[in-house]
Amino acid sequence: MNGTTGTNETRSTEQHGTTPADVVIVGAGPTGLLLAGDLAAAGIRVTVLEKRPAKISNLTRAFGVHARTLEVLDARGLADELIPTGRKLTELRLFRSLSLDLAGIPSRFPYLLSTPQYEVEKLLLRRATEHGVRFVHDAEVTGLRQDADGVTVDVRNKDGESSAYRAAYAVGADGVRSAVRKAVGQPFPGKSVISSIVLADVLLKSEPDLTVAVRGDEGAFGFMIPFGDGYWRVGGWNRERAEIPDDAPTSLDELRDIIRRAFGSDFGMHDERWISRFHSDERQVPQYRTGRIFLAGDAAHTHSPAGGQGMNTGLQDANNLGWKLAAVLNGRAPDSLLDSYQDERHPVGSAVLRSSGTIVRLAMAHNPAQLGVRWLASKVVNNAAPLQRKALGQITGIGYAYRAPRGSHALVGRRAQDGQLAGGSRLYEALRGGQFVFVAPKETPLPAELQSLAGEECIRVQWADERELMMLVRPDGYVRWARG
Ligand SMILES: Cc1cc2nc3c(=O)[nH]c(=O)nc-3n(C[C@H](O)[C@H](O)[C@H](O)COP(=O)(O)OP(=O)(O)OC[C@H]3O[C@@H](n4cnc5c(N)ncnc54)[C@H](O)[C@@H]3O)c2cc1C
Repeated sequence: MNGTTGTNETRSTEQHGTTPADVVIVGAGPTGLLLAGDLAAAGIRVTVLEKRPAKISNLTRAFGVHARTLEVLDARGLADELIPTGRKLTELRLFRSLSLDLAGIPSRFPYLLSTPQYEVEKLLLRRATEHGVRFVHDAEVTGLRQDADGVTVDVRNKDGESSAYRAAYAVGADGVRSAVRKAVGQPFPGKSVISSIVLADVLLKSEPDLTVAVRGDEGAFGFMIPFGDGYWRVGGWNRERAEIPDDAPTSLDELRDIIRRAFGSDFGMHDERWISRFHSDERQVPQYRTGRIFLAGDAAHTHSPAGGQGMNTGLQDANNLGWKLAAVLNGRAPDSLLDSYQDERHPVGSAVLRSSGTIVRLAMAHNPAQLGVRWLASKVVNNAAPLQRKALGQITGIGYAYRAPRGSHALVGRRAQDGQLAGGSRLYEALRGGQFVFVAPKETPLPAELQSLAGEECIRVQWADERELMMLVRPDGYVRWARG
């Protein structure tokens, strides 16, 4: 990693007029790292400003990488490297009664990969660095302003010295307390959903069966997820202690008590590597774009960790924004393409808030009426295949689709499913070029109507089998056009 500090470089930028970046990204969390790598891979000059020193924390927050995120990583050649770091979980069990079977989902990755967030960040950081992203650490963004030509980002380093960076566009991927969001004056409306969740990574003397389990009973709910490294992520909430503030101390005994209430056993948990108490809000900015400034990841939306979707949703934001910014900066698309980032990602953010909110509210159910609703909802989802598919599509991310023009083929707006290509490769390997991919039966010329959509660098491939389907797939893996 390039550990240069901000001050000297910035001063030289300002004093000597050297070329500023095309894009400044604030925040080197998973969202900022994926976006930075995508832009740099497309030849865009990227500077990432990060207030932390140049070291990845080994304290993990997110633990689960869902199928759609693995597909996105596959389209960058990273999924196969990530998978050995974790454990594949094929069933999600919620509130004793609801079971979601991941094994049948139509993806190359029919499971939840349980692996610490830092493993994902490690791969994304390496890729971004290999593509030449400039990282500036100990650089806290304190404000930013835009004009007709670009954005100026104000930074303070750890010695309290100020400097400024200039770029054509800026992206706030600076997490839930985003300074960029505040600087552009975006509100973050919403409310607190749950407080005093106790969370820890622990070892267990006896392991429960290998599923992601969320259970609620006796005024408490708990969840347990195995990491790949022997530790378990265990968390829970106790109604009787729900008003305790985040900064009140917690202990393994408090967590043991919660888990015993929820699961009937504490599984002999011991040797926590960290333990913490936190609360969770449900909030979303109304606008993901303000002129030349974009918000992505937790800076744009936050919700309960139920369903394990925070990091996954941020990575999908980056997947959507990266190719669009690159296309505009490379002169291949008009600036208006960038408005589709809001049109496509804001509704997904809202849907994630709703689904994670539903899970956490059902988990907190305690009076007979609420428990009855939970029982009924579980029964219905267990027994109705379309509802089970919908729930799985939302949790894994493979079910989200973007709005398609009226009269489009049914696949337009959906994520392309991987498929075998002539020559032995796969569609998601073809997407590693970062371009539109036109896939068709053998020897099919690119239809004239697609010439301007796909651009000159469109990659053309052929199915390995005899299927008639033709698709133009966007660089982010979503179908732009289809026939057959
Ligand atoms: C306790 C806990 C448990 C969680 N569990 C899960 C889970 O199980 N599954 C899941 O999917 N998600 C989970 N999450 C959420 C997940 O960790 C986040 O959604 C994810 O990290 C968001 O990534 P991001 O890149 O958008 O933001 P972040 O990871 O927050 O990264 C933002 C970066 O910006 C930097 N930054 C902030 N302000 C500035 C500034 N002013 N100047 C420069 N840099 C700045 C920060 O140092 C940070 O590196 C959990 C979160 C917490 C707190």
